[in-house]
Amino acid sequence: MKETLKRVFGYDSFRPQQEDIISHLLSGGNALVLMPTGGGKSMCYQLPALLLPGVTVVVSPLISLMKDQVEALRANGVRAAALNSANTEEENQLVRRECDQGTLKLLYVSPERLLLELPYLMRELRISLFAIDEAHCISQWGHDFRPEYTQLGVLREMYPNIPLVALTATADKVTRQDIITQLHLEDARVFVSSFDRPNLSLNVVRGMDSKQKQHAILKFIGRHPNDCGIIYCLSRKNTETVANFLSGHGIPVAVYHAGLSADERERAQSDFVNDRVQVVCATVAFGMGINKSNVRFVIHYNLPKSIENFYQEIGRAGRDGVASETLLFYNLQDIVQLSKFAQESGQAAINKERLDRMREYAEADVCRRRILLNYFGEETSCDCGNCDVCQHPPRRFDGTILVQKALSAVYRTHQHATLRVVADILHGNFSAEVKQNGYDRLPTFGVGHDVPLRDWNDYLLQMIQLGFLEIAYDENNHLRITSQGAEVLYGRSTAQLAVIRREEVTPVLERRRKKSEAPVIAFDEDVPMTGGTEDKALFERLRQLRLRLAKEQGFPPYIILSDKVLHALATLKPTTLAQFGNVSGIGEFKKQKYGRVFLDEITSYLK
Ligand code: ADP
Ligand code: ZN
Repeated sequence: MKETLKRVFGYDSFRPQQEDIISHLLSGGNALVLMPTGGGKSMCYQLPALLLPGVTVVVSPLISLMKDQVEALRANGVRAAALNSANTEEENQLVRRECDQGTLKLLYVSPERLLLELPYLMRELRISLFAIDEAHCISQWGHDFRPEYTQLGVLREMYPNIPLVALTATADKVTRQDIITQLHLEDARVFVSSFDRPNLSLNVVRGMDSKQKQHAILKFIGRHPNDCGIIYCLSRKNTETVANFLSGHGIPVAVYHAGLSADERERAQSDFVNDRVQVVCATVAFGMGINKSNVRFVIHYNLPKSIENFYQEIGRAGRDGVASETLLFYNLQDIVQLSKFAQESGQAAINKERLDRMREYAEADVCRRRILLNYFGEETSCDCGNCDVCQHPPRRFDGTILVQKALSAVYRTHQHATLRVVADILHGNFSAEVKQNGYDRLPTFGVGHDVPLRDWNDYLLQMIQLGFLEIAYDENNHLRITSQGAEVLYGRSTAQLAVIRREEVTPVLERRRKKSEAPVIAFDEDVPMTGGTEDKALFERLRQLRLRLAKEQGFPPYIILSDKVLHALATLKPTTLAQFGNVSGIGEFKKQKYGRVFLDEITSYLK
């Protein structure tokens, strides 16, 4: 196992769980594998595929995923192919011929194709293992339900003697049980990896409006001129607005949403995968088919609708294990909008609950990674040090007076005003609604004029989070006083508020930047280190070389060599083929294929 891992994939050691899973499958067992995105699920069936006598059949939901995996395998010299509807009949014939010759090690198929082709495959092929990738697609609970997947249940019944492994990055218990039942995996061993992604930084920025968000993003990208990333937006319109803004500032950007034609979406995706654009502004429709390992940042322009969605989406950053940043913008308009969606979703109660969890995450004053891991059922006892809360623990102050002012304003409106209007009243802002309702004649009007309007918005949010106020979503989002709030209002208890930390956005991001300057050292367990530091200029030269090779050969750049490998090369600066081949992530095939050209580049640079 170890020898093959090194020779074919260039890795020195297994990731946690991989070795156990692979041994289990090689000995004929069935398995359900739960591992976070980027955790190395593919290795769990690719390595057995190489060690077992026949062919491993991999079921995958999307053509783009199959294509990516097949390319990556072939780039390592492994015989792999995909059978799907995107192929021409000739191409599929070619694949069948390879099957007949018995040279193929991995065959990727879509679920509908598998059931169609199975009689033929079983006759002609010696199938040694079935792998069902993205297995959560079988569950209606999952967020990517695909009806074709439900038919895969017949596999275990028809071929009880061929081992089967189902893999997913979706961890929740309902989905997990659903996969087991539907695929008849009751006898399977379940492998659950930690869902922690320590290389992803977690940052939340609250209370910015659209303009401010766009400028913050521009600054952020300005500090990462060579890094690519995804910006998720709630609406199609937002994707276009943000994209126009960024491209107006010279950033190569693509747009992706369901309103585009299939061709346009395909082009956006391929431009991103091949590093022809730096940024994609997308609705959540984007990403499932993306295996691009060098996504360096994920920005949420709006709040996602659940923590599951959020985690899945940020998970698309840093699959190669190199430090990557995530940034979540959160403001009240998002809550209003998403509450409306939840209300109209036909599953109002569940979806509002999910949204509440998401909101609590965004508003929290404890280590964000702890919240996430706790959410996924993993207990953690220490703070992560790589989230905005850890890096800037909030200061608190006695906010009793502020809370009393706010609550009495709410009281005077007979609880008929929204948060925005209450903030206007407190600050003494003569807005249209204020005048219309005569709120400017209330004794509480302007009672908090010394606090900026924006801060009032923030404090009111905190009061909601702390449970002094609640939003009546079913009554035009008016603010209501809770019983706990009444205690403070009538002086029976006090309230602690967190000092607003809005201004610290920039320093947080700047500090990140420093951290990611030495990603190889900070995050890489499997690059043999000699203690050197990375040469930025060399990295850039190697990146350009990789881009040229990618264009010539028609592969995405990360398939040629990953960012992690480039960082290692720019740090270790190998000058012999043997040294080059020792770098983690370079197998025998890539060593022979790319060694010379990269060594030449390094040598000429060093001269
Ligand atoms: P997943 O399918 O779980 O999202 P992948 O299978 O795409 O993740 O693996 C993510 C990255 O980790 C890939 O670049 C892969 O080559 C790499 N990887 C997998 N196993 C190992 C290992 N044992 N050592 C180092 N890197 C690994
Ligand atoms: Zn933390």
